[in-house]
Amino acid sequence: MSTIATNLQAVKSRVAAAAIASGRDAAGVALLAVSKTFSADAVCECAAAGHRAFGENYVQEALDKIAALQSLGLEWHFIGPIQSNKTRPIAKNFHWVHGIERERIATRLNDGRPPALPPLNVCIQVNVSGEASKSGVSPEGVVALAKAVAALPRLKLRGLMAIPEPTPDTALRRSRFALLRKLLGQLNASGHQLDTLSMGMSDDLEDAIAEGATVVRVGTAIFGKREAINH
Ligand SMILES: *Cc1c(COP(=O)(O)O)cnc(C)c1O
Repeated sequence: MSTIATNLQAVKSRVAAAAIASGRDAAGVALLAVSKTFSADAVCECAAAGHRAFGENYVQEALDKIAALQSLGLEWHFIGPIQSNKTRPIAKNFHWVHGIERERIATRLNDGRPPALPPLNVCIQVNVSGEASKSGVSPEGVVALAKAVAALPRLKLRGLMAIPEPTPDTALRRSRFALLRKLLGQLNASGHQLDTLSMGMSDDLEDAIAEGATVVRVGTAIFGKREAINH
């Protein structure tokens, strides 16, 4: 087996073990392979090992891979920060967008989603780390943003996403994920029907799964360490 196939298997085992440890069905936790900075060949290798869903952060890099691998019918998730001048290619080429943090960006994605495609699946990114992070809407702002996004016909609001600041404090880490889970519960209690908690990465997926993650986004543990690149 190639390294990527071996790593993929190991990550799937971690996901399954974490699900079992918290009394959950492993089928309820989807794995998103984060392929940013890695080549189309690396994605191809992962796809050959049976994987379908890939996450990308940089628009042009992603578009090149999506075009090169079109015949494989893969599922593409945009997980990076979204610049307003890039919403059109994102709306056209991706199946999911995880990092909605402003209504203006959501509206632009809605306007750019081609009518021939099904609505774009989106998650609202929440800043669960307080002042330690600048990305994401504040927990207090989630209700209003969810209401605005849910009203856009070319988007389908699926849930919430977070990237907690790294911390060696396990209890603190768990509490960040728990907050996201609580916010999703509040939205559903007020009438939304959201099924997605996108949280957990290579270093903390076990904690995220223990707190209810339905999608973990894993790069390093599958593809290896990333080189810094300039975009
Ligand atoms: C890069 C990235 C990941 C993957 O992180 P790893 O630590 O390499 O697993 C997950 N989510 C987002 C939003 C990312 O930008």
